[in-house]
Amino acid sequence: MSQHFLLSSRAKTLSLATVFRMSDADAETAFKGVRWSETGGEPVCPYCGSLDAYECRRPSGSLRYRCRACAKDFSLTSGTLFASHKLPLRMYLAAIEIFCNEVKGKSALAMSRDLGLSYKAAFVLVHKMREAMAAEMKGRTIGGESKVAEVDGAYFGGYVKPANRFENRVDRRLAENRTGKRKVVVIIRERDGNSLPAVFRSEAAATKFIRSHVAPGTVINADEATSWDKLGISFEMKRINHSEAYSLDGACTNWAEEFFSRLRRGEMGHHHHISGPYLLRYAQEAAWREDSRRVANGEQVTRVAHLAMASKPSVDFCGYWQRHEKAA
Ligand SMILES: [Zn+2]
Repeated sequence: MSQHFLLSSRAKTLSLATVFRMSDADAETAFKGVRWSETGGEPVCPYCGSLDAYECRRPSGSLRYRCRACAKDFSLTSGTLFASHKLPLRMYLAAIEIFCNEVKGKSALAMSRDLGLSYKAAFVLVHKMREAMAAEMKGRTIGGESKVAEVDGAYFGGYVKPANRFENRVDRRLAENRTGKRKVVVIIRERDGNSLPAVFRSEAAATKFIRSHVAPGTVINADEATSWDKLGISFEMKRINHSEAYSLDGACTNWAEEFFSRLRRGEMGHHHHISGPYLLRYAQEAAWREDSRRVANGEQVTRVAHLAMASKPSVDFCGYWQRHEKAA
């Protein structure tokens, strides 16, 4: 039997020990290379695009640049997802490394303990990494001529612990007893290719999304749920009846099931509740992890760092606690 990828040396190209042995200068060099890869690490002004900037460190030692063209100051992370960074750069690399290594997901609480951060700082940090992963899926189209994709849905959230006494319990299967928080994650996954998740109230509500994100000519595999019937108008379909078999005559949704397995294990083992506004983010994280499962961890860290540095400051999480505590 072949060796599991995560046990092989190919999977381990960067360790946390290496990150913590880095000097501040090493961490700066690593981030410069990721941020300004097209100029070989030379600074580019995020305000006017000028290449004419010089280093002007703060008395604290933190690295800043001043642009000769527009006279504005900027840091290595200005205008990126890690804008206004408060931690040493090495900590961001360490956080990304820890996040990538936990292949089923990493809770903010565990991250705060690993790095000695407050829970609030860790919460924002892990969500920014999910946002970076999601950035890779923007505008993604799945499949193509003679490609095969799988579509499936699974419900998350809205769980209410049953009452202690039997006489106080209600049947949560009935519509009137539901919380309305239960949502379905729908995954479109190309076999040997990329994935794209989305969140809906029901599987049937996903038809339009699937049509607009799957390339014409793709063969779609789905289970026998009537929610997928309408897709047959636009695509060649293969259906699998799971009460008969999991895979029959090439029809299966096993790739989609693997995605749900990872997302469900993240929910059960790390996050406990992934409903509400962030359900999509957790789904995108699980999809990124699925698609990158055979990528060496050093490369995963570089990719997430690159995505974070290429993304704009977070709309949801930049200044999150300042806003939420004022509101409270
Ligand atoms: Zn400038």
